[in-house]
Amino acid sequence: MKRTKIVDAVKGGDLIGQDVCVKGWVRTRRGNKHVQFVALNDGSTIKNLQIVFDMEKFDEESLKAITTGSSLCVIGKMVESMGKGQNCEVQAEKFEVYGTADPNTYPLQKKGHSLEFLRDIAHLRPRTNTFGAILRVRSILAYAIHKFFNEKGFFYLNTPLITASDCEGAGAMFQVTTLPLNNLPKTEDGDVDYSKDFFGKATALTVSGQLEGELGATALGAIYTFGPTFRAENSNTPRHLAEFWMIEPEMAFYDITDNMDLAEEFIKYCIKYALENARDDIEFLQQMYDNELISRLESVINNDFVRLTYTEGVKILMESGQKFEFPVYWGADLASEHERYLVEQHFKKPVILTDYPKEIKAFYMKQNEDEKTVRAMDVLFPKIGEIIGGSEREADYDKLMGRINELGIPMKDMWWYLDTRKFGTVPHSGFGLGFERLVLFVTGMANIRDVIAFPRFPGNAEF
Ligand code: ATP
Ligand code: MN
Repeated sequence: MKRTKIVDAVKGGDLIGQDVCVKGWVRTRRGNKHVQFVALNDGSTIKNLQIVFDMEKFDEESLKAITTGSSLCVIGKMVESMGKGQNCEVQAEKFEVYGTADPNTYPLQKKGHSLEFLRDIAHLRPRTNTFGAILRVRSILAYAIHKFFNEKGFFYLNTPLITASDCEGAGAMFQVTTLPLNNLPKTEDGDVDYSKDFFGKATALTVSGQLEGELGATALGAIYTFGPTFRAENSNTPRHLAEFWMIEPEMAFYDITDNMDLAEEFIKYCIKYALENARDDIEFLQQMYDNELISRLESVINNDFVRLTYTEGVKILMESGQKFEFPVYWGADLASEHERYLVEQHFKKPVILTDYPKEIKAFYMKQNEDEKTVRAMDVLFPKIGEIIGGSEREADYDKLMGRINELGIPMKDMWWYLDTRKFGTVPHSGFGLGFERLVLFVTGMANIRDVIAFPRFPGNAEF
């Protein structure tokens, strides 16, 4: 008999009165001598399907293996439910236990485990309501991202994960090598001889696909990347991972305003798509963790983002009378407390901050006429702080080289990047959205380690 997924089964509808076959994992079993109720879940929805065992048809002994966490196949008749909490239920006629789960050792017994505890059993936490909901929302958001860019005529470009450019500057890198660490080949000067390494040079995991993204944009017009990114920063914060996923659109012929318009439209589209297509999961998360979740999501969709310059933003912060842990002054890199003050206290809306001091931004950003600032843009969100970082890029070869020399950036492996400015250079822009920060926002969770199935952070590479 063909299996019905529980997401379809719980709707009842035409299935009422029919025999169905359902499969899944037991969430709970309760009941008495006459009747037993099993809540079955197969991961296709937050909802459980109620299976009713009439104890006149089954003996107590045969149901012994049906414990929390065990896996089942059940065939039975779908009927309307008398009980509250569900429209329909299955009256079991036959069942098979695929796998038992010993109640003495299966860790997901009682309800209400802490998120910290669940992090230690990340191999099993996807079976909880919370992580089922988060992972479904994450998947739906990933689909929305591809859908958005596809509808806009962007091409999906896959940039390399292993890179030899050491000037990206976005964060500390994880080295990639096949050299024997206990017997390193050395040059005459006593340095490690990377010419003997796998790629013939020192390589690392990428911190951003942007530089290659620019090669794509200046050929295909508009591209986006969506892939893993690695940063060996030792930041034990609720907003940083060592391995995270980034979406990086890059567009030829876009100036900073076009870039801001795209970022705003994009993020609103994704949130709206999740609200429409992952409603049950988001409602569950709201009920369990964050009672303002849906109103916050709707307020982002329904309001224009505030756009102001870094200089104006710093002025507001300095005049706020607010005590911050890190001091604010013109030239300071804003911390998440400053970003959140602007968004949550001052404007009560997402903010796009532009034109940052060049000293705190990357070499490739377009230099403004004031010679002090660059055409950077950061999108700041409630509860998150920076969710997007982007800029219009410096398209002028001489200005770009000027900045590179000022900063003393080693360019020997970067000749290919400079070629974009030598041959048919065009105004262009792009940005990077940290996928997990978007998932954090949409799920209302507080810790980034809870919105990726198997998080990587300092001291942890389990699972
Ligand atoms: P932050 O200041 O928050 O550390 P950043 O300025 O270093 O971020 P960018 O280099 O601008 O980050 O990267 C683009 C986007 O990638 C950020 O806006 C953020 O959403 C995300 N991001 C950056 N670092 C991390 C990280 N370690 N873990 C998860 N997401 C990250
Ligand atoms: Mn940034």
